[in-house]
Amino acid sequence: MSRLVRIQTPVGPRMGIVVGETVHACAAPFAATLQFGEALMPLAEATLLPPVRPSKIVCVGRNYAAHAAEHGADVPSAPMLFLKPPSALIGSGAAIELPPSSVQVEHEVELAVVIGKRARNVPKERALDYVLGYSCANDVSARDFQRKDGQWGRAKGFDTFCPLGPWVVTDLDPRDLTLRSWVNEELRQESRTSRMVFDVPTLIAFICGIMTLEPGDVILTGTPEGVGPLHAGDTVRVEVEGVGTLSNPVTTRT
Ligand code: MG
Repeated sequence: MSRLVRIQTPVGPRMGIVVGETVHACAAPFAATLQFGEALMPLAEATLLPPVRPSKIVCVGRNYAAHAAEHGADVPSAPMLFLKPPSALIGSGAAIELPPSSVQVEHEVELAVVIGKRARNVPKERALDYVLGYSCANDVSARDFQRKDGQWGRAKGFDTFCPLGPWVVTDLDPRDLTLRSWVNEELRQESRTSRMVFDVPTLIAFICGIMTLEPGDVILTGTPEGVGPLHAGDTVRVEVEGVGTLSNPVTTRT
């Protein structure tokens, strides 16, 4: 099990691997065997960027029955997909910026799947072979625009609406992990990935039968029940068991 990070350094962003409490360089994070190089800096001093730079972020709607129910929606008969733009990504510690045009921005804790090698028409049985690892994601959503627009591009696509991190953990079994979210000290969401309507292998097979998945692409696997509002001054934390905690302050976009 390894932790892959992307950090800010004086010469620009670098991919790294956490060894003990230190970030070491990692020149080839998508190689079959991970190797680490020179020490870059202590993890505690690092500014964590989104751990990968995906060509696309593929998201799954209504993948937990109890969340579909809290919106009065049915569970879909096939995975319901939408996309978030890579420009929405921020790392752990960066601010979620609330657009003044929305009056209802909400958090959504999700297990993020990071693709490790190009996948096209891969069957479910081999789908996990194409995974680099897993991370924590917050599918920040302007619920008022989501309802009003029908299409979700605006509601889900604002800059800063895709916190991802703090790192990618390899060699994790995604089938039954606890998911939690907190706003300030209030627990808002708590569920398990075993309650997904469509599991991780099913999602990868379905998606890569539609669009080729490239190394670094990210799949957000849906949120459980308990979503709620974010306000300027809040801090929102989302946690995936075995990965860690992604924490972001909330501010107003200027
Ligand atoms: Mg979502």
